[in-house]
Amino acid sequence: MEKTVIMNGGDYPVVEEEGKAGFGGGVEDVYGEDSATEDQLVTPWTVSVSSGYTLLRDPHHNKGLGFNEKERDAHYLRGLLPPAVFTQELQEKKLMHNLRKYDVPLHRYMAMMDLQERNERLFYKLLIDNVEELLPVVYTPTVGEACQKYGSIFSRPQGLYISLKEKGKILEVLKNWPEKSIQVIVVTDGERILGLGDLGCQGMGIPVGKLSLYTALGGIRPSACLPVTIDVGTNNEQLLKDEFYIGLRHKRATGQEYAELLDEFMSAVKQNYGEKVLVQFEDFANHNAFELLSRYRSTHLVFNDDIQGTASVVLAGLIAALKLVGGTLADHTFLFLGAGEAGTGIAELIALEISKQTKAPLEETRKKIWLVDSRGLIVSSRKESLQHFKKPWAHEHEPVKALLDAVKAIKPTVLIGSSGVGKTFTKEVVEAMSSFNKKPLILALSNPTSQSECTAEEAYTWSKGRAIFASGSPFDPVEYDGKVFVPGQANNAYIFPGFGLGLIISGAIRVHDDMLLAASEALAVQVAQENFDKGLIYPPFTNIRKISAHIAAKVAAKTYELGLASRLPRPKDLVKYAESCMYSPIYRSYR
Ligand code: NAD
Repeated sequence: MEKTVIMNGGDYPVVEEEGKAGFGGGVEDVYGEDSATEDQLVTPWTVSVSSGYTLLRDPHHNKGLGFNEKERDAHYLRGLLPPAVFTQELQEKKLMHNLRKYDVPLHRYMAMMDLQERNERLFYKLLIDNVEELLPVVYTPTVGEACQKYGSIFSRPQGLYISLKEKGKILEVLKNWPEKSIQVIVVTDGERILGLGDLGCQGMGIPVGKLSLYTALGGIRPSACLPVTIDVGTNNEQLLKDEFYIGLRHKRATGQEYAELLDEFMSAVKQNYGEKVLVQFEDFANHNAFELLSRYRSTHLVFNDDIQGTASVVLAGLIAALKLVGGTLADHTFLFLGAGEAGTGIAELIALEISKQTKAPLEETRKKIWLVDSRGLIVSSRKESLQHFKKPWAHEHEPVKALLDAVKAIKPTVLIGSSGVGKTFTKEVVEAMSSFNKKPLILALSNPTSQSECTAEEAYTWSKGRAIFASGSPFDPVEYDGKVFVPGQANNAYIFPGFGLGLIISGAIRVHDDMLLAASEALAVQVAQENFDKGLIYPPFTNIRKISAHIAAKVAAKTYELGLASRLPRPKDLVKYAESCMYSPIYRSYR
């Protein structure tokens, strides 16, 4: 009897005997098809045989030249590959060599996406082993350009597209996805992709990129990750006029039509994948981002990285920075430029942490935090006209228009830029901060680099080497007055992969703010003295999987403590457990 290898969706191809198909329900269809006449409807039934040519084209199992002699014999690969057998390490070396030859970042991105579609494990091995070099390739800033050109650079669709056309059928659409046990969904509606605005359906690059980081940095299995783009139209005129645009060609649906589609999506997700699937909202426009988070946080396991992830990573940096500037968080005064998703999210988490530490009510601790938006300092006289998420920050103060005047009036110890507008921390602003702070803490979070509030060099030079500086976009080390300063990057990728892993390993059913605080504290303790000595308030990225395991353990511990964990009994050593759950990209041996 002939043996064939049948795909089972798991890690190993399984050997089956001919005629006994590995899938339930298929056998009858085959016999039905055999006896069908031309005018009968038949089921297009197929069994994928992952031997030979098909195995080489299956990204989950393909190893390319990595198949050893035995595997080449057993899986009908003889002659389909050149004779050389490469180790995974040698394949990695070759690919890194090829990648580095590309001068254009987008070409590197395309080469990486190509690899992901060809050989998944090798893609993740490359990403994990070269994380600092490849993170900017598969995610920001390159992913932004990739989204802008999404329609023209992709021949094969990635992720799941849910548009208004699928209204009433979203559950069926979810069932079309080949993987059944999904643990993390990253979803966008493409309305505010990075700093690039409305890219409509082309926003798909964001969930795809974010989920590859979930796997590489947080160890979530690739098959458990589902990228989703919700297409309700776009207000981007250029895309609407582009004959090659891949999305719905009309203005964005809003109001009830939008809310109903999102509601159907959220219900279908829960119905199909259960209570424990994590839905991460990504790059939604301001108004929808806050609304969706507050609407679903009590009924679903939801997380918004732009609001909560940013808040957690910045709070971690602030907690770590206390080692350099002294005092407790409650001893500090915070001033933000920019009161959107990032700014108000960070402000709220700082207030919550201070409230936990001092037992003071949240309304009190918020008073240590001030925000400036495009109309000036947020003060009580503006309260009526403010958007709801800005209202808690409208403190008693006379109106102040300019940032410099706000700095002089409030005298903050910490200045945080989150407006998306570059060059706003001028020489005068940094000098003012340095005039009343021995070590002013300055975070220029706006992206991309051109939008940074100031450069690392400007912060160190204008403060005469006294500023503690971190930024949203990376900056090279700066030499000032004979000393080398290394600016830290408040990268969300420090937090969300470990945070998600913590939710998954504990079987969390809801996200609670205390879990975000736990993640911040876990990250802050990873900063070593040698990092502080260079002026860093974040640990080096090279250890990110270890960092993620520690964050996951603390998040999971908090989940159990809050009674929100469903995976019982609680593992004793959560760090070890987190590490043991992490996906490894090393090739498996095929029998
Ligand atoms: P957002 O659109 O939600 O908020 C921007 C806010 O800035 C709004 O309140 C707006 O009124 C205000 N603003 C605009 N122009 C201004 C001006 N000239 N002066 C003062 N305020 C002004 O955007 P967001 O999601 O909060 O992101 C803001 C910036 O933060 C972006 O550049 C983003 O890339 C960056 N960011 C960085 C990180 C990180 O470092 N980890 C994370 C998230 C966001």
